[in-house]
Parts: sequence; C-alpha cells; structure tokens
Amino acid sequence: MARRKVDLKGKRFGRLTVLEELPERKNGKVVWRCRCDCGNVVNVVSTYLTSGQTTSCGCVKKELEAKHLREGYENKRVNNVVLPLFKGKEPRKDSTTGFRGVRSYYAKKSKEVRYRAWITVNGKRYYKGGFRTPEDAYYNGRLKLEEKYLPKKENDSHEKR
Ligand SMILES: [Zn+2]
Repeated sequence: MARRKVDLKGKRFGRLTVLEELPERKNGKVVWRCRCDCGNVVNVVSTYLTSGQTTSCGCVKKELEAKHLREGYENKRVNNVVLPLFKGKEPRKDSTTGFRGVRSYYAKKSKEVRYRAWITVNGKRYYKGGFRTPEDAYYNGRLKLEEKYLPKKENDSHEKR
C-alpha cells in the first residue's frame, strides 16, 4: 500500500511558503512551487523542504555571502591598513608621525598632506619640506639636516656609519 504523500501546500519552511504542487517530478520526488519572503518564486523538491536544506530562494545565502565578504573586507582592512601604521614603529613621544623631527603639514599649493623634517641646533631651527611620506622626510630630510647642521663629534660620526 502506497503511503500518502505529504501535502506541503500552505506550509512554511524558513522564508518559503509552499504555493502548489507541480506536475513534474525530480528523481521521483514531488516538486513544489514556493514563494520566498523576498518575493521570488522558486521550485523546490519536497525533501529539500522537509529536511530543512532549502529555506529560501537563495537570498539567505546571498545575504550571508555579502556579510562574509564585508567581514572579510573589514578584517583585511585591519590587517593591511590600520595595523601597519602602528606595528613596528611605535610613535615617539616627540612626534605625531612616528619619526623624530618629522611633522606633517598641509601643502596649500598641491592640496596634499606633506611631511617636513626639522632640526633645532643651538636654538636655530632648520627645515626641509615637501616629502610625501614620513619615512622619506626622516631619511632624506631629518638625517640630511643632522648631517649638515649637527656639530660633528669625531667618535660619533664613525661609530654611526
Ligand atoms: Zn528570497
């Protein structure tokens, strides 16, 4: 005696509401026309519904994927952009750029943030500006200024180099 097939009409599975049974069969199984809460209409095999395998037209999966994508992006942003600013080069107390004697400033002419190196020697201040990165300002600005203006000590200079 054949078991009476389950009538899913009108039943709800997740976001899907079963509308009607379709005449077609998939691997001998009943296919149901369902309407998703998002408005899409999809055809789902009965066992997918009853097993909880299918609970939407696919929009739930899409939403999850978008969420993961967004989260992945956030994580990536943390690893690649935010962290390196602080990793490896602890900002020194005397500087906001992380480099001694380097300050950022707003270049009015180019409308960009630039970096300027400065050094104070015997109460006099020397500047070298126009650098695009604090590193550049330090190595090509501050160190050059040190070389030029700092009074050289015999033992210092060859210990450093
Ligand atoms: Zn949907």
